Amino acid sequence: MRRVLIKELFSTPEKFFEKEIIVKGWVRSLRNSKSFSFIVVNDGSSFKDLQIIAGEGLSNYSEITAMRTGFAVSLKGKIVPSQGKQPLEMQAVSVEIVGEAPEDYPLQKKATSLEFLREVAHVRGRSNTISNVLRVRHHLAMATHQFFHERGFFYAHTPIITASDCEGAGELFRVSTLPVNDAPKDDKGAPDFKKDYFGTETFLAVSGQLEAEALALSLGAVYTFGPTFRSENSHTSRHLAEFWMIEPEVAFADLDDMADLAADYIKYLINWALEKCPDEIDFFNLRIQKGLKDTLEHVRSSSFQRVTYTEAIEILKKSGKKFDFPVEWGADLQTEHERFLTEEHYKAPVIVTDYPKEIKSFYMKENSDGKTVRAMDVLVPGVGEIIGGSQREDDLEVLKRKMKEKGLKEEDYWWYLDLRRFGGCPHAGFGLGFERAVMYITGVQNIRDAIPFPRFPGNANF
Ligand code: ATP
Ligand code: MN
Repeated sequence: MRRVLIKELFSTPEKFFEKEIIVKGWVRSLRNSKSFSFIVVNDGSSFKDLQIIAGEGLSNYSEITAMRTGFAVSLKGKIVPSQGKQPLEMQAVSVEIVGEAPEDYPLQKKATSLEFLREVAHVRGRSNTISNVLRVRHHLAMATHQFFHERGFFYAHTPIITASDCEGAGELFRVSTLPVNDAPKDDKGAPDFKKDYFGTETFLAVSGQLEAEALALSLGAVYTFGPTFRSENSHTSRHLAEFWMIEPEVAFADLDDMADLAADYIKYLINWALEKCPDEIDFFNLRIQKGLKDTLEHVRSSSFQRVTYTEAIEILKKSGKKFDFPVEWGADLQTEHERFLTEEHYKAPVIVTDYPKEIKSFYMKENSDGKTVRAMDVLVPGVGEIIGGSQREDDLEVLKRKMKEKGLKEEDYWWYLDLRRFGGCPHAGFGLGFERAVMYITGVQNIRDAIPFPRFPGNANF
């Protein structure tokens, strides 16, 4: 007799009616009456619980009635149509206790807050909300690989330890084996990183883009999907210190190609989630964000709005809204501005392009106006920025000048500059924050609920 997953049971109940099977999982709740015990079990395969009737005739009936929420059990029994709300239930032939759980097991039946669940991240994957998020997260990862694979992109792995600060933003975690207290000193009295493990200062990558460019100029089109580290010093609901990023990079492509790719990719993710996770999406629609399903269904069939940064500034100025941060050409868009554009003005995903060069990275292609660069941010309702991308500067001389303007040393980027000398070509790419996509599609409001074990300032628990 084989073990059946509850997901399988509910997707093809007719296959199992009147048959004896084995199910293994964790007790969600238990109700005892004189002659039978009513057990609700979940095995993690699906949002759905299985109801089990265990009669007093079972040899260990007194043990069964003494079980509590959280117990691990192995159940053997016959599947029968149910009189209740569920299409089926199990009549137990045997109930084996596999693992016990104490009375103070943290996930009791009463509703718990997401804040509380973060403190018990080691078991919160058994709660309805988080298990649903984790399943959707899995499916979005599968969708990502499928999407890029179908379009001829190669999945590429870029280094996690790096000597370059791609964004130049300085939000870096150092990687070092030098002793913290008595590191060898150079002649200026600073730690001598020449004596460090790699013979140079190294950090965890904030992006895999620079290496992805090298690979795109070899394989044509690549994407990365890996962990990314930023020592963000802010406690926002949209930033993690460790998050996952998907970075496609394409040779012989420009910013318009990236805007199309980004819209196609987001729609693909939405379609996939609606198709593969209907129960989970229904749950989020009901319990986490009213109207989520309508919104997702609408977005997958509508085109993304496009606006230049300069136009966006005009829209914000004319809006008559009072913002905490002033709206001024040249200043970066703040979250409140981004959310106004996508949530109130367009009420749809919007792609903002052509930002002032001063607020963007050195590698972004300069426009002929000399003031803006071919950058784009994709903004979505409920989250704000979900994607940042650009066409890359492929003119060697312009790139060198821009690096100088930003105070970057050519010798630190020698190989990156080579890419402009060794058959350089127009190329472009973007980065999508995976947890932000999970937030968008599940409706969860805090990024710490979109990843199993979140890392943020002051917390590396679990
Ligand atoms: P933000 O303005 O929100 O800080 P950013 O401009 O720093 O974003 P990029 O450097 O363009 O972001 O990174 C690409 C994508 O990675 C972003 O659009 C976002 O989805 C995601 N991202 C960036 N920083 C974080 C973070 N700390 N935690 C989670 N996701 C992030
Ligand atoms: Mn940032």
